[in-house]
Amino acid sequence: MNGPLTSPPSVNSTCPYCGVGCGVAVAPDGAGGAHVEGDKAHPANLGRLCSKGAALGETLGLGTRLLHPLMRAGDGPLARTDWDAALDRVASGLAAVIDRHGPGAVAFYLSGQLLTEDYYVANKLAKGFLGTAHVDTNSRLCMASSVAGHKRAFGSDTVPGCYEDLEAADLIVLVGSNAAFCHPVLFRRMEAARAKRGTRIVVIDPRGTETAAEADMVLPLAHGTDAILFSGLLVHLADAGRLDAAFLDRHTQGFPEALAAARALAPNATATARGCGLDAADVAAFFRLFAATEKAVTCYSQGVNQSAQGTDKVGAILNCHLATGRIGREGMGPFSLTGQPNAMGGREVGGLANQLAAHMGFSPAEVDLVRRFWSAPRMAEREGLKAVDMFAAIGRGEIRALWVMGTNPAVSLPRAGAVRAALEGLDLFVLSENVAANDTSACRPHVVLPAAAWGEKDGTVTNSERRISRQRAFLPLPGEVRHGWWPLAEVARRLGFGDAFAWTSPAAIFREHAALSGFENGGTRDFDISGLATLSDAAYDALKPVQWPVPADTAAGTARMFADGGFFTGDRRARFVVPAPVAPPQGAEGLPLLLNTGRLRDQWHTMTRTGLSPRLSSHEPAPFVAVHPDDAARLGLAHGGLARVTSAEGETVLEVRADPRQPAGTAFAPIHWSFANASHGPIGQVVQARTDPFSGQPDSKATPVSLAPVPAP
Ligand code: SF4
Repeated sequence: MNGPLTSPPSVNSTCPYCGVGCGVAVAPDGAGGAHVEGDKAHPANLGRLCSKGAALGETLGLGTRLLHPLMRAGDGPLARTDWDAALDRVASGLAAVIDRHGPGAVAFYLSGQLLTEDYYVANKLAKGFLGTAHVDTNSRLCMASSVAGHKRAFGSDTVPGCYEDLEAADLIVLVGSNAAFCHPVLFRRMEAARAKRGTRIVVIDPRGTETAAEADMVLPLAHGTDAILFSGLLVHLADAGRLDAAFLDRHTQGFPEALAAARALAPNATATARGCGLDAADVAAFFRLFAATEKAVTCYSQGVNQSAQGTDKVGAILNCHLATGRIGREGMGPFSLTGQPNAMGGREVGGLANQLAAHMGFSPAEVDLVRRFWSAPRMAEREGLKAVDMFAAIGRGEIRALWVMGTNPAVSLPRAGAVRAALEGLDLFVLSENVAANDTSACRPHVVLPAAAWGEKDGTVTNSERRISRQRAFLPLPGEVRHGWWPLAEVARRLGFGDAFAWTSPAAIFREHAALSGFENGGTRDFDISGLATLSDAAYDALKPVQWPVPADTAAGTARMFADGGFFTGDRRARFVVPAPVAPPQGAEGLPLLLNTGRLRDQWHTMTRTGLSPRLSSHEPAPFVAVHPDDAARLGLAHGGLARVTSAEGETVLEVRADPRQPAGTAFAPIHWSFANASHGPIGQVVQARTDPFSGQPDSKATPVSLAPVPAP
């Protein structure tokens, strides 16, 4: 067969994987494939791509795709249907559940993979028109503790700096971050800074990671002791005369109380080292280095966030930057590294159960503002249930209808076995999905709606540095696939809300979202992109990556925030936080090891896309559990043999990796394998559902488990 005479034009888009948000230049071949390379003009990556991004062209194709709606009649199997029948069923099902049980019986579970426009429409439908705030997202699993920490300290969910700070820093501290695997392009930018200006890289992590292997200094602290370490650092900064008295005086509140609490917890380097299980000389050297290096950036990720004390850990880190005025200035600041491509965009529209929209919460004034802007008939007036609590409520039968979009909770949530059982008991279970079969679609949804995949999607995402980028389509929508926002708007129309959901393009949705961000804002809220609210369709299509805020009087973005205060608390002063003294996590009776879960270099989430590339899958072809060789010997586990991993939640069986980098008394397992491709089920069915009290983020870094040998079959 002859190929096309001319190839379609090249398209600039954004990588669909991690929160670095790299720009890609895509050259479609006109036959459903494409050549993908880094976009040299995109500020996030300047042409670089990691292994996952570079393999994007290998993951295209329709072999695993869902191409038409499916619906189940009674207890029968899913069968092909048409859009009208599917949408009628969703609309009538939602109406019936609300009539019978009230709006609080309806929930949405969204995804950091969704575009901002899809997120906006789902959130508006749920919170303004159905009247439920049970709208949460898989981003709850990756950065909710950073959100809560930001809001406590800054009064807003603001990442103060930008990626260029990494190249301008003389010291980069990575806390609970295996950036070499999980944010590879950013890690390359850090290594480039070291090569160019001698930037020192310090890694603080219990686990010996690939990032730690490249560091200038490693502090392998005991699980869960980060707040002790940064409390000790705060004391040292005070005692070494490194405080910024002017910044403290003009722009903060609560420093004396925070310092007194830090002194009680970690009075000096020796006590800090004891509390963290570290060498005192190493701790003292780190304290001296941080104190002496003005240009310091502290990056933190899942090792901090995925913890029952995650919000306090974030607070302890922010305290050190606020105390020294090292925030929002070139080469300085705390920096939350987001896991997912649009975790931040989801936060902007209110895709978390404790947010309303446009970084507003549920105060009566904010509810009233959004009600008026949306002309909403049935506003949710208080926070909804966060992810873990939401699925527990589904299991108890309190939530009767659920719409899942673009995520695989049957695998990825803690207590995954209970999640699967809960999904099968719903009165209405709707799934928007782009693959024909996954673990969640095996949980008996009533309706499955075919959603656009990367390459077909058209909208925006926001990366870890607040940079909004276009994700552009370079492939046509195949079969009966529709954009994620479209069925939401169609269901709204069937429920009588058509006027408020009458968009015909993502550009129109984005303009409304941008207008809401500026509506009666007046500088009172950090998230303001009203400067983009009047973009024409052509200008939206051509939108260059831009960092919010973009207020109405400027189309330019904002690289850094808070260098001169201006926090979003009532008095514009940041708040110091006093971390609660909490004992580090311990094993339990019969469950003596602490299980840590995380990502691998070449896979993304449950592998629905990365699993299509043989090259990526060859890096780690099978799931495993890593333990220290001494633990392996003590427990009778052979390297390469099988182990049963058991917690209070459930069990699975994994291949044993005896790895000297694994701290004694702990185990590590990657998150990517599912019920479908791990013979004994995913690690999620072992992970505990314990959560941080402020953020609701699950502690998936320290589940008490036992390991026992399993005879080879
Ligand atoms: Fe994609 Fe993240 Fe890799 Fe960049 S670093 S190419 S965004 S996976």
